Amino acid sequence: MPSSRFARHLAAFTLALALVCVPLSGCGRKGAVGAANAQDSAASASTSSGSATNSSAKPTASGGPAVVAPASMLEPPAYGGFEPLPCFTYHTIDPKLKNEIAITPATFESELKILANLGYHSITARQLYEHQSKGTALPDKPVMITFDDGWRNQYTYAFPLLKKYGMVATFFINPQPIAGKYRGYLTRDMVLALAHGGNDIESHTWRHLKATRDRTGSADSFQRKNMSQLTLANEWIRKVVGQEPVALCYPFGYYDLETIGMAQRAGYRLGFTVEEGVADARAWDAFQIKRFTISNLETTASFKRRLLSGVLPVRDIHPAPGSRVVGIDATVTVDISAMPAGITDVKLSSGPGLRNMHIVQRRGHTYAEATFHKAKVGFREISMRGTGADGRKYYASWGIVLGDLPH
Ligand SMILES: [Zn+2]
Repeated sequence: MPSSRFARHLAAFTLALALVCVPLSGCGRKGAVGAANAQDSAASASTSSGSATNSSAKPTASGGPAVVAPASMLEPPAYGGFEPLPCFTYHTIDPKLKNEIAITPATFESELKILANLGYHSITARQLYEHQSKGTALPDKPVMITFDDGWRNQYTYAFPLLKKYGMVATFFINPQPIAGKYRGYLTRDMVLALAHGGNDIESHTWRHLKATRDRTGSADSFQRKNMSQLTLANEWIRKVVGQEPVALCYPFGYYDLETIGMAQRAGYRLGFTVEEGVADARAWDAFQIKRFTISNLETTASFKRRLLSGVLPVRDIHPAPGSRVVGIDATVTVDISAMPAGITDVKLSSGPGLRNMHIVQRRGHTYAEATFHKAKVGFREISMRGTGADGRKYYASWGIVLGDLPH
């Protein structure tokens, strides 16, 4: 409900629609990093959506495009009831910076120092799952350090530093290049050594193919291939490490509800995105867990801002997170009525094409709204960001697929 107090504050907002390109930072073999990583961003984990029982494809507040019904997403926790779990995504740790998502060992160490000095305790994806499913206690101030893609430099440069600071990480690996002994990737023995060192070995699928269906091929053939990508990774990890993975990291960050459904059927219990933001340790959004992708544009200050960032309490997001949208001119609508007073500089952004951001009042609620215009078909990350009166950053982010598949 839009209090007039809120409306007054709203007037102060700079609701700009930034065409921030978010090329799915992480996970890309090519390593482009979203502008999101550039300065201070951070984002948050407040992917709202319909609740488990509220999962029908209701029309958007603005009568926007029809969406595929979300199947398994939960209502986010009440604002204030959040158990913050910042998760950081690393790719290449190497003295030579080969791309934006490569950082030096010295930078990695400086970030570990920040975490240690601020009293954070590293936990793994498996610990998160046990906390979420069995209520197993987590240490104070939990943080997750994750590595994607299984590069050998993660073993060479990051593992010794993790040990030095008494921290553990979650390694999302693609077993195919490891089993094939590809140059530059972890070896089987390195994977084992990481696991024996207390680290968590989880799945990034067998060989890093996109886990969302496109317009080529039939649904059946996609599902067969994708399921085998998921299960082959499971089998290899179980065989080598002795434990079935619980977590899937989506290649390139691409997923939709079909991907989530298949991940669940393959036995996964958590899904990690490259959508920026602080996750919730209760993992209410178990298959849309947020992570901050670390790049070499990161500064000590921006790292701390991400670590300490808050969640924008957005609700009633349409099109729903994880949905496929018919057409490419979708209107994105977010209920921001619950946003606390004093948050300014709120921006709604996505890839090129999301335009005309404006605020509307409808049925007693306040919505931020913008429309994709001739956007590219495919997975799109959408972020909202704001700044608190004390300079603290607040974020919400989610993903949708533009351009539904033919029936
Ligand atoms: Zn990846």
